[in-house]
Amino acid sequence: MTTIASDEVLAYDEAVQRFDPVLGLEVHVELSTRTKMFCGCSTVFGAEPNTQVCPVCLGLPGALPVVNAAAVESAIRIGLALGCTITPWGASRARTTSTPTCRRTSRRRSTTSRSRSTATSTSCSTTAGSYRVDIERAHMEEDTGKSLHVGGATGRIHGADHSLVDYNRAGIPLIEIVTRPFEGAGDRTPEVARAYVAALRDLLRALGVSDVRMEQGSLRCDANVSLRPRAATPQEQAQVPFGTRTETKNVNSLRSVERAVRYEICRQAARLSAGGSIVQETRHWQEGAGLTTSGRPKSDADDYRYFPEPDLVPVAPDAAEVERLRATLPEAPPLRRRRLQDAWGFSDLEMRDLVNAGATEARRADRRRRGVAGSGPQVVVRRA
Ligand code: ADP
Ligand code: ZN
Repeated sequence: MTTIASDEVLAYDEAVQRFDPVLGLEVHVELSTRTKMFCGCSTVFGAEPNTQVCPVCLGLPGALPVVNAAAVESAIRIGLALGCTITPWGASRARTTSTPTCRRTSRRRSTTSRSRSTATSTSCSTTAGSYRVDIERAHMEEDTGKSLHVGGATGRIHGADHSLVDYNRAGIPLIEIVTRPFEGAGDRTPEVARAYVAALRDLLRALGVSDVRMEQGSLRCDANVSLRPRAATPQEQAQVPFGTRTETKNVNSLRSVERAVRYEICRQAARLSAGGSIVQETRHWQEGAGLTTSGRPKSDADDYRYFPEPDLVPVAPDAAEVERLRATLPEAPPLRRRRLQDAWGFSDLEMRDLVNAGATEARRADRRRRGVAGSGPQVVVRRA
């Protein structure tokens, strides 16, 4: 039973003095392919519910899925841009899910890229400097339907009068990008979480694989947070085992990512300080109240009963194909910014205004539209 009764929280400064936060981020990005992962249904956002569906994306028994080649290409380009190794043989697995209204085969997934070296990372900058966040893996999935719980106080299934399900989103190709546990940023951890998602969003936008609209759910973040007792030195800290984590699901703005991580640090710190323990579970970010509420218990041993998908051949890109896709990668956004800044002779502050105004993006989009390679800024925002 979920209520928006707030948990005890410790003041942030005290929390990070007593505990060292560890972070793990799972980002889901919907690809902007014209059609879905395994069928020809449209992926356009905002249509009347259940008007862009067919037996395949409804997961009906006997429907035959066919892989969308454009989605596989995007998946490989994302893996390459993150510095991952592309798996030469990615078998697909599926699982059967039950919603209040139907039982369906869904969440087919196949790993397309996996990091094998610590060079696989995204660097992101915060006001306190740059951090490197290591990537564990990226894999392909299909999105699920979207439920709307009607009635009840929380908008969640508990206490609702009835639920509605829209399957327009089901089957849209999705890439999940998972980080390794990130440690060592101390009180800056919430900022790093935000900066990482922002850096990833920039990269995905530069790749042109997604419209990365967090407010429309095409980029969503699950934030894993745990705490461990603070040690005297970084060396000693590294010896302290990780604590139990919670996973706050579907956080859908940069600001909320930072706030949710910060809140979890304060909540877990209060519990641990009072001699309690952390329950490994999913949690939900409540934007209005600015807190997380308990979801479902989630153990590492949870068995989703994925089974080999008999109707899909493995995704097995050959080396030449991977190299062809590597040649299509754009310049990495941070490098691009640095290069433009040098070429235009802007200060850091001027460049920040320019980036905030979306000028470097606008210029890229404009060039793409006109099919020309111009030089020099189209829009300049200068601090007065
Ligand atoms: P699952 O696939 O069951 O969600 P994973 O082991 O893939 O779990 O981890 C999910 C995310 O949680 C990853 O980003 C990982 O780095 C992170 N993570 C794992 N253990 C911890 C921990 N103790 N504290 C914080 N983050 C963690
Ligand atoms: Zn369909």
